[in-house]
Amino acid sequence: SGCDKADEKLQKTLGRIRHKIVVMSGKGGVGKSTVAANIAVALSLAGKKVGLLDVDVHGPSIPRLLSLKGQKPHMGDHVMEPVPWSKNLSVMSLGFLLEDDKQAVIWRGPVKMGLIKQFVEDVMWGDLDFLIVDCPPGTGDEPLSTLQTLGPTAIAVIVTTPQGVAVDDVRRSVSFVGELGNRVLGIVENMSGFACPDCGAVHNIFNTGGGEELAREAGVRFLGRIPLDPEVSISGDEGFPFMKVHRDTATGKAMQQVIEPL
Ligand code: ADP
Repeated sequence: SGCDKADEKLQKTLGRIRHKIVVMSGKGGVGKSTVAANIAVALSLAGKKVGLLDVDVHGPSIPRLLSLKGQKPHMGDHVMEPVPWSKNLSVMSLGFLLEDDKQAVIWRGPVKMGLIKQFVEDVMWGDLDFLIVDCPPGTGDEPLSTLQTLGPTAIAVIVTTPQGVAVDDVRRSVSFVGELGNRVLGIVENMSGFACPDCGAVHNIFNTGGGEELAREAGVRFLGRIPLDPEVSISGDEGFPFMKVHRDTATGKAMQQVIEPL
């Protein structure tokens, strides 16, 4: 049937992707997109072939974080080419397809499901070592269809902040992933203390350790903590991922030195 054919196509695409990592968070604003973009860039700089897929239908932020705003994917016959960021990293985002990024996207669950599936199977990802997916926050339609589309081998990285309230949301995400039969690779605690640009020390503003405690409790790995660092948000605003930002020593302006040119 047509349905089997469609699944065949999806399986064929997924078969060429070695590791599928879904970056999730219990709520918005915890730095999930920043972490997803930097994981993707770091892996690509380590010589891996990486795809970065932004499935946030409400606020796609990956194009801005990687200075790719206004780019359009090349359209073929029933396929789209992802937008290249470097030789090793290609990117797909709903943001590339929206005419105006302020445009509100109001779609029902089944439509979102179809879109996410299309973003995986109709995009020419090619052979990838890693597909990193930036998933909208929470445990709603998009994370559900993302995990269902990618299947049981997709693993989740959960980003949280150290405060108690955020940690409650993460607990929900961990059980959500488990209920779908997927594995949690681990938890990242972001905005954990403040990295002072003047003295270089990390000051703990909120309690840190919430993510680590939760990881222990949930039996998943604690992957590490990232302090609040003004350089992370400044480089993000400028469209240079922190992993890749180089500052001109004379002007202090960010510049992109593409180690592996396109
Ligand atoms: P989310 O995807 O969870 O909504 P974002 O990645 O868009 O969150 O991050 C929200 C804001 O916080 C952005 O302005 C980003 O630059 C900033 N940010 C994220 N992580 C850090 C950090 N470790 N230090 C400083 N600013 C950060």
